[in-house]
Amino acid sequence: MKFDHYSDREAALAAGLVNSADDRDELRDVLTRNNISAIGDLSAEVMDQIQALRPRLGKIFRSEDPAEAATEINALLRETGALPQITDHDDEEWHLHYTPVEAPLVVRLAAEAAMGLAIVMRDDGLERLKTCASETCDDVFVDTSRNRSRRFCDPATCGNRANVAAFRARRRGAKSS
Ligand SMILES: [Zn+2]
Ligand SMILES: [Zn+2]
Repeated sequence: MKFDHYSDREAALAAGLVNSADDRDELRDVLTRNNISAIGDLSAEVMDQIQALRPRLGKIFRSEDPAEAATEINALLRETGALPQITDHDDEEWHLHYTPVEAPLVVRLAAEAAMGLAIVMRDDGLERLKTCASETCDDVFVDTSRNRSRRFCDPATCGNRANVAAFRARRRGAKSS
């Protein structure tokens, strides 16, 4: 099984959107990193639309009820009129578009993110859609590890912070005993 396929990248877009702040530069960075083309002006209106999309995607990651997650995914697919079309525009590899390129940015993002989550869910249920285990971080992520054992959005930062905290707690415990 291959974990780096396209649906993971689309689900990673969903996570990136949920985790991004309501900040133009940060959002542009997330979209660029996720190969979104024709980003255009991130006007106040577009920022508002994406702000409204964020909790809907977040709900799917944080849901513990597959039926609830599926309802939200399907609502997004329906509202965006997602229609898969295979394309190799601009010398890219063959990949799927779910909305016409001229569709509004938020519609393209919602359709792509929802499709990514739908495919991850089809393959593994909600098992790979996770929230960071750190007490100080609320980020979501797609666990692409083979045994689905990842607990932190970023093992190098959140995971390390948690390890340090656990170490200190153990040391405190050792001293007081
Ligand atoms: Zn494309
Ligand atoms: Zn984290």
